[in-house]
Amino acid sequence: MLSNDFIAELEKIVGKEDVLTSKEELTAYSYDGTTSWVHLPDAVVFPTSTQEVSDIMKLANKHLVYVTPRGAGTNVSGGSIPIKGGIVLCTTKMNKILNIDKENQIAEVEPGVVLMDLNITLAKEGLRFPPDPQSFLGATLGGNIAENAGGPACVKYGVVKQYILGLEVVLPTGEIVNFGGRTMKNVQTYDLASLIVGSEGTLGIVTKGILRLIPAPAAAQTLCVVFDDMGKAATSVYKILSQGVIPSKLEFVDNWVINRIEEMMPMGLPTDADALLLIESDGIPEVVEKEIKQIIDVCNETGAKEVRVAKDAEEALKYWKARSAGFAAVFGKAPTVLAEDVTVPRNKLPEFLKRIKEISERENVPITNIGHAGDGNLHPSALTDEKDKEHFERAKKAIDEIIEMAVEFGGVLSGEHGIGLEKKKFLKKAVDPKVIELMKGIKRVFDPNNILNPGKIWED
Ligand SMILES: Cc1cc2nc3c(=O)[nH]c(=O)nc-3n(C[C@H](O)[C@H](O)[C@H](O)COP(=O)(O)OP(=O)(O)OC[C@H]3O[C@@H](n4cnc5c(N)ncnc54)[C@H](O)[C@@H]3O)c2cc1C
Repeated sequence: MLSNDFIAELEKIVGKEDVLTSKEELTAYSYDGTTSWVHLPDAVVFPTSTQEVSDIMKLANKHLVYVTPRGAGTNVSGGSIPIKGGIVLCTTKMNKILNIDKENQIAEVEPGVVLMDLNITLAKEGLRFPPDPQSFLGATLGGNIAENAGGPACVKYGVVKQYILGLEVVLPTGEIVNFGGRTMKNVQTYDLASLIVGSEGTLGIVTKGILRLIPAPAAAQTLCVVFDDMGKAATSVYKILSQGVIPSKLEFVDNWVINRIEEMMPMGLPTDADALLLIESDGIPEVVEKEIKQIIDVCNETGAKEVRVAKDAEEALKYWKARSAGFAAVFGKAPTVLAEDVTVPRNKLPEFLKRIKEISERENVPITNIGHAGDGNLHPSALTDEKDKEHFERAKKAIDEIIEMAVEFGGVLSGEHGIGLEKKKFLKKAVDPKVIELMKGIKRVFDPNNILNPGKIWED
């Protein structure tokens, strides 16, 4: 519980209308994209400037009040859950695109800018910020940076960290610091901007991002490749990449997800297919044409049943809309979804998918699969209901086994969603204890009183 005096101080900083304290309002900030984590904050604040963020942090640090940063709350790791109460600091009112420097291909943004809004604005200038988490309609740049988000385009273009030149960050103590800068190369200091990227809101609050942009591609072509065996689809993934073609997107969708997408938005996807690969090549038109031919040849050699070539941009967009609806399709189908984010070496995908199917059958728990296969990144999702204890236990067992298997295969617990609350119990199995100790040491330097997003990433 926060004292009335403390709330009054918060109101002095951001204004009365930007502090929420009623139970109904707090409830809206007690959950995120996960289905199994919920905790009420004691207050929600909406700063509108870096100075306000700094003043909030100074106040919280003085009174040892926990602060959990939040953008749109779409993360699927429990990262923005205020698990120990305190304040949720929501950045959605810091949503200005401050500057687009076309000559140097740089944008400066506040953390609450929605990714889609940024890309609509950039498109008018012939520019693009490539990382494309499939929550782009709502997710914010602050959340993308804190999670080091990825998406379909990352197989060719890389994830968020490859596009961060500099960051303005408010430390848990309230100090305002600038990491990195505006240049394409910079080895002036330790790479502290990169340290903040992917730190899941535990080291500081990002109040400004200086982003590297690239030109929008001149041409793009989309394929929907149909397989009657998901093993063949998975084999095509590493064969395409190992033959020297880097598609701009290379996504895997299994039979369950295909059917659910068709149910939600009928568009003639092959509902009897065991799996689909949605593939895009982009760049110079002649190169795109050549790459598409090479990709089709590999898929045919690997045993594709059918290759559908999008006839125009409109048809291509339909496939990509279907893909971006895929994760929501999974979440809409069960009261509790344990959605994972494991990443394995690409050539292990066929065996990995086969073993997931065996686990799903053995535990009698539906496990769906969709993912950024070009990066070896899959989202196996167990559909369950935590109210049905026995089913829920089986689902948890299946997911635990899948995570352990990913690590055994030389993979990682998370490729893009982060550890948050959801995966912290697995961390000690996946990394050297010294790594956790070092992370705790870094956390102490940034946040001596442990007030920023406590209880995340590692077990207490
Ligand atoms: C349907 C769906 C599809 C998705 N697809 C993808 C995908 O393809 N790829 C992918 O990577 N993710 C995906 N996600 C996960 C999620 O959308 C991303 O992690 C996204 O980057 C979160 O942005 P957000 O604004 O919602 O952040 P939030 O969920 O609000 O916060 C995420 C984390 O960032 C911290 N944070 C937020 N703002 C700041 C800030 N300014 N400074 C410091 N820390 C901050 C929070 O404390 C929290 O730990 C998907 C989620 C959904 C629901």
